Amino acid sequence: MSEKIPYKIYLSESELPKEWYNVRADMKNKPAPLLNPATGKPCTAEELSHVFCDELVKQELDDKNAYITIPDEIRDFYKMYRPAPLVRAYCLEKKLGTPAKIYYKFEGNNTSGSHKLNSAIAQAYYAKKQGLRGVTTETGAGQWGTALSMACSYFDLDCQVYMVKVSYEQKPFRREVIRTYGAKITPSPSDTTEVGRKILAEFPGTGGSLGCAISEAVEAATKQDGYRYVLGSVLNQVLLHQTVIGLETMTAMDKYGIKPDVIIGCAGGGSNLGGLISPFMGRKLRGEADYEFIAVEPASCPSLTRGKYLYDFCDTGHVCPLSKMYTLGSEFMPSPNHAGGLRYHGMSSVLSQLYDDKLMEARSVEQTAVFAAAQQFARVEGILPAPESSHAIKVAIDEALKCKESGEEKTILFGLTGTGYFDMYAYKAFNDGTMSDYIPTDDEIAASLAKTPKF
Ligand SMILES: *Cc1c(COP(=O)(O)O)cnc(C)c1O
Repeated sequence: MSEKIPYKIYLSESELPKEWYNVRADMKNKPAPLLNPATGKPCTAEELSHVFCDELVKQELDDKNAYITIPDEIRDFYKMYRPAPLVRAYCLEKKLGTPAKIYYKFEGNNTSGSHKLNSAIAQAYYAKKQGLRGVTTETGAGQWGTALSMACSYFDLDCQVYMVKVSYEQKPFRREVIRTYGAKITPSPSDTTEVGRKILAEFPGTGGSLGCAISEAVEAATKQDGYRYVLGSVLNQVLLHQTVIGLETMTAMDKYGIKPDVIIGCAGGGSNLGGLISPFMGRKLRGEADYEFIAVEPASCPSLTRGKYLYDFCDTGHVCPLSKMYTLGSEFMPSPNHAGGLRYHGMSSVLSQLYDDKLMEARSVEQTAVFAAAQQFARVEGILPAPESSHAIKVAIDEALKCKESGEEKTILFGLTGTGYFDMYAYKAFNDGTMSDYIPTDDEIAASLAKTPKF
């Protein structure tokens, strides 16, 4: 290609994907089904429909159809902030002095500040189409709650968010954004649900956790007529919606004849990474091309690198179906890590299976090194990255420096999932030099894994 690759590759509106890509259709070993904890049998569509919207249950259970049409109403919303740019990190390359070519797909160009809006809008749309009154959910760091409140206000749906109490108190501005979009927000654990009251009685003064907020949101959905529960990560349906990220990236790269050698993403529940890599993984699974995929997780919550692949609960209150995944155990309490969106004990069952089949690698990185990478990136590329996204930046830089040593001209692609404007306390701790790295011991992980259910 003689034409110089632009700093930013923008696609036109008409190039916005018309279908999501379901990588499960091309997987030889399918991800294991969700199990009903009461019977130990795979959950039926009927059972799941009490918790989730009907159309989303269909997507959750669909291992066969490779392409699923994106309804026009969802595409119209996507058009407000998509297609998202693919950026050539020329300035970072120069600063690093690497022969590697670095690209990132930027998902922070919307008010929610992250990729989560891609699935929020789909989930709100299907809830509305089913004639529901509203949805309930949990939010940890607040990105998902923000995205869902935006999507619900767009479709005029009621939205109830259970926000982990420590975040509710530490991130008052997130809270106000969510309220501005009209959602009702409750710090969790709360006395508005049975499971919340039980947790409060057992642990008075607790700051809450994601697993506990999930239990409350599920209970709230099942106890109110016309409500369903929605989740912003981990589930197959969420990963499916996030494939707009990978599909746009592939279109942009194909247009300029660029082939990535290494594809990197941060992994909390796995939805952005799954969405970015899916179309590329599809090519790999069909034998059309080969890529190296790297999942990056925090050393404080290392589900893939130090967890076990087994059936586990998705929430602390054990009200959700069981999922087979790489997990640290549902009672694992990650130490305070500033990347709130990466503090989940489990992992998408799709990514877990791909990792177990050795089709993808995983690395864990320490918090201070992540922030050092974030700072380096911000100073040359301009964008202030979210702490979660910075995990991917850290490994992209590591790979680029390896190329500098070996002289290899690899093409590196990573997902830049969002901006970090609401994470300034974390940046402050880094700038003040008071940030620490906590890594759980083998004994701590073993103790929490010992409490996983036996199947
Ligand atoms: C939630 C979040 C993540 C992690 O979630 P995944 O489901 O693993 O993608 C990563 N980055 C940002 C900015 C987030 O808000």
